[in-house]
Amino acid sequence: MPSRTDSPLNVAVIGAGLGGLSAAVALRRQGHQVTVYERYDFAGEVGASLSAASNGSRFLESWGVDVKAAKPVILKKLIMHEWASGTVQNEYGLGDYKAKFGTEYNNFHRIDIHKELIKSAFEAPGEGPQCTLNVNHKATSLDADAGTIQFENGTVATADLIVAADGIRSLSRSLIGITPDFEMSTSCCYRCIIGADKLRELGLEDYINNEAIEYWGGFGIDKIVMSPCSNGEVVSCYCFYPAKHNNLRDDGWNISATPQQLVDTFPDLDPRMRTLMLNAEDIKMWRLYRHQPYPYWVKGRVCLLGDAAHPMMPDQSQGSCMAFEDAGALGLIFDRTFREKYTVAEGLGLYEKLRKPRATRVQAASFRAREDLNERIGWSSGADKPGKLTIEEVCGYNMQGHLEELINSL
Ligand SMILES: Cc1cc2nc3c(=O)[nH]c(=O)nc-3n(C[C@H](O)[C@H](O)[C@H](O)COP(=O)(O)OP(=O)(O)OC[C@H]3O[C@@H](n4cnc5c(N)ncnc54)[C@H](O)[C@@H]3O)c2cc1C
Repeated sequence: MPSRTDSPLNVAVIGAGLGGLSAAVALRRQGHQVTVYERYDFAGEVGASLSAASNGSRFLESWGVDVKAAKPVILKKLIMHEWASGTVQNEYGLGDYKAKFGTEYNNFHRIDIHKELIKSAFEAPGEGPQCTLNVNHKATSLDADAGTIQFENGTVATADLIVAADGIRSLSRSLIGITPDFEMSTSCCYRCIIGADKLRELGLEDYINNEAIEYWGGFGIDKIVMSPCSNGEVVSCYCFYPAKHNNLRDDGWNISATPQQLVDTFPDLDPRMRTLMLNAEDIKMWRLYRHQPYPYWVKGRVCLLGDAAHPMMPDQSQGSCMAFEDAGALGLIFDRTFREKYTVAEGLGLYEKLRKPRATRVQAASFRAREDLNERIGWSSGADKPGKLTIEEVCGYNMQGHLEELINSL
């Protein structure tokens, strides 16, 4: 590791979600002083799965995050079921995934990977100075040129670089002059989990043992996406349905539903899956939005990251992976010797050039995949339809090479 060639940056990260924590870890490792500001007394994560394809897992590994401690299930295949009978219609084996793309296809419980990122950011072992966490700090105002943030509790912070990772409803985004162009999706989603013991009791243990992401539907709005996580102790489902079905206008992560409401949403579904639904726990509604790409991501000393920059439909399972990539990009750009190459402003310009086209492409493909499973990476190949997003393009991405090309082209 080369030593610093100049003073480290004082970095402020707004938001301690998966994106903000990743940025904190990536920048800490380059010797920068990072402070994370979170509006709540602690950033929570929801009880659902999160698949980290190799383009995300690669960064987690390179940052020394204890991926094993986050109890992933290593995904081996994608399985497509017939909606009404559950009969397997198609399988896509991921057999040589690690050999091809360098890491496993990890499926985490979101809470587990959030916990490991917290350790990597704020605990002493690990490269670079420990980051500082300030909870109950809701950012309410920003001066992008001066690098100042004001918080609801009356405090003010100043930083050389501000990473705004405050999620899909980002206030920072508006504070740097972006008015998001978005609409409520015609799709809505219930998520739920079920424990392995319960599945065994119901005779549904193959849902754990398959080590797969399993789909029902996906051609049209209705789709069930199921996968095991937490060392196979939990199975998590995302159940997409037409928003007009219950026309819920409420928002947030915590709108609960009963098993009966869930099962009644899918009257013609495979009876085995309906049995799972009737025994599911922690059923919550997740409202979906379609955001158009924003005109810019950077202003003065502020950059947007994660869902604040590129909220997307969940149908490529790439939202967090794109946030991990954003954070990886900041770590590569603001490395220990960046001042020999460019200023902070030029570095942020590079960040936008590197990240925006790729994340925008994945965002567009996520929207197409909302109602067409053939657009989902793994099920798709560039040969079927020119221009399609492919698993090779997403999982085989070499960010370092891309960055070098960009720097050479300047
Ligand atoms: C149904 C569904 C399934 C998904 N599945 C996957 C998947 O399998 N794989 C995948 O890669 N991605 C998946 N995603 C996407 C992924 O969840 C998101 O892209 C990711 O969590 C975004 O992280 P973030 O840190 O940018 O935002 P968030 O997780 O929203 O974090 C934002 C943080 O900022 C804080 N905050 C907000 N405003 C302020 C403020 N003013 N001041 C201070 N703090 C503030 C919040 O409290 C929060 O802690 C899925 C999404 C959905 C909806």
